[in-house]
Amino acid sequence: MRIDILSVVPQLLESPFNHSIIKRARAKNIVEIYVHDIREFSASRHKQVDDYQYGGNSGMVLMIQPIYDAILHLKSQREYDSIIYTSPDGELLTQKKSNYLSVQTNIIILCGHYKGIDHRIREHLITEEISIGDYVLSGGELAAAVITDSIVRLLPGAISDETSALSDSFQDDLLAAPVYTRPAEFNGWSVPEILLSGNFKKIEQWQMEQSLIRTAKLRPNLLSDKSADE
Ligand code: SAH
Repeated sequence: MRIDILSVVPQLLESPFNHSIIKRARAKNIVEIYVHDIREFSASRHKQVDDYQYGGNSGMVLMIQPIYDAILHLKSQREYDSIIYTSPDGELLTQKKSNYLSVQTNIIILCGHYKGIDHRIREHLITEEISIGDYVLSGGELAAAVITDSIVRLLPGAISDETSALSDSFQDDLLAAPVYTRPAEFNGWSVPEILLSGNFKKIEQWQMEQSLIRTAKLRPNLLSDKSADE
């Protein structure tokens, strides 16, 4: 899979893709991630990328030309399954959406900045708009990092234990069961007995029960949405 990210502040994305699971996935060629500086596509002499907005309101807007040229440049080289714009008014990111994106081959993620981007880009070139939550960030870079991270951990081979991503919260509309590691006793606080029993069938049952209890308590909507799906 290949992910191209377009940004006016590419420095913001130097770290998130260079550590841990994503770093290893890149090293193993499971994913290629490229961060492009939109400024390099600006046709203006001073490499301008933003301008005052029409209508006189305050706040700068990312200009159409550099973004248009950046997207066309990428599209001339390969086909893209999705061209995503990160936006607080987009579709809320869910595990379902990440699963859907993780089986695509090439995607572009466009990060806005300041007041956003010239709306004509959204009308004519963007195929999906994604929000990472009902709050406003200064730029789309952190959202692009969140979207990319949630996709990459789903790619086969990205996580060493293949089943690991499948047992995460939301995969089956249930929250994950609690997890523990050594020591079995710390400060008088002990790990649930059952996990030390070696009886894998019973452990699995316990984990399923815990998932159901936690989902009913913390996110009951997941259980009712599930029955609505069926
Ligand atoms: N004026 C816009 C917000 C601009 S915030 C509005 O009110 O809708 C600047 C940029 O940050 C946006 O263009 C978008 O790319 C990004 N951004 C802000 N909040 C976001 C969120 N919740 N999810 C995804 N991207 C977000």
